[in-house]
Amino acid sequence: MNIILLGPPGAGKGTQAGRLVSERAMVQLSTGDMLRAAVKSGSPVGLRAKAVMEAGELVSDSIVSALIGERLDAGGTDAGVIFDGFPRTAPQAEALDLLLAERGRSLDYVVELEVDEAALTERVVGRFTCARCGEGYHDVFKRPVKAGVCDVCGSTEFKRRPDDNADTVATRMAEYRAKTAPILPIYEARGLVYRVNGMADIEEVAGAIGIILDKGGALDAF
Ligand code: AMP
Repeated sequence: MNIILLGPPGAGKGTQAGRLVSERAMVQLSTGDMLRAAVKSGSPVGLRAKAVMEAGELVSDSIVSALIGERLDAGGTDAGVIFDGFPRTAPQAEALDLLLAERGRSLDYVVELEVDEAALTERVVGRFTCARCGEGYHDVFKRPVKAGVCDVCGSTEFKRRPDDNADTVATRMAEYRAKTAPILPIYEARGLVYRVNGMADIEEVAGAIGIILDKGGALDAF
């Protein structure tokens, strides 16, 4: 099964993809994670992407499409793939169709996480993760039980994404509205789109996505 999780920054795509990975052995393909790894490693792609990402703008279609193709060819994706943060533009959507078709695969569902944009900035600006195990936290909504200590692994080191600040988030939202939201009609015309209320709590959203995946998308979960 190959699915796309679509929604603006902070909609919960990464969180829900993580759930699907642990519950269904699917593989999460996050172009944001791939690009952050490239930036960290100082690779040529990373060097080109760094400033663009810090500004909240979009990295070129050819770079991200190539990253996805390479990952699909690396194998281990037979149980299914969750595309998280890709595609983000119409050319990327076209590239994805081609990448999948060339590998004898196709898209099963596009799950749109519907959210209240006004609430998203607060969500994104307050988030941080454990530097060791990656568990996600939030200054207001989900603080570690013991201040400064990760609930999951006990680490005392946390990190924040450099692009999770109010200015950059505004640009990322604008990019979503201008370039990503317009790809939804392409998938709607193919009957692939299912909507989930992304403002519900994490468990409810996960349950709603589960229903879509299990019931063959027979009903809109909310
Ligand atoms: P994300 O982790 O999905 O929020 O992505 C973080 C940043 O990486 C974005 O703001 C973009 O600068 C870049 N990025 C991630 N995925 C893509 C994509 N599919 N196309 C273009 N830029 C991307």
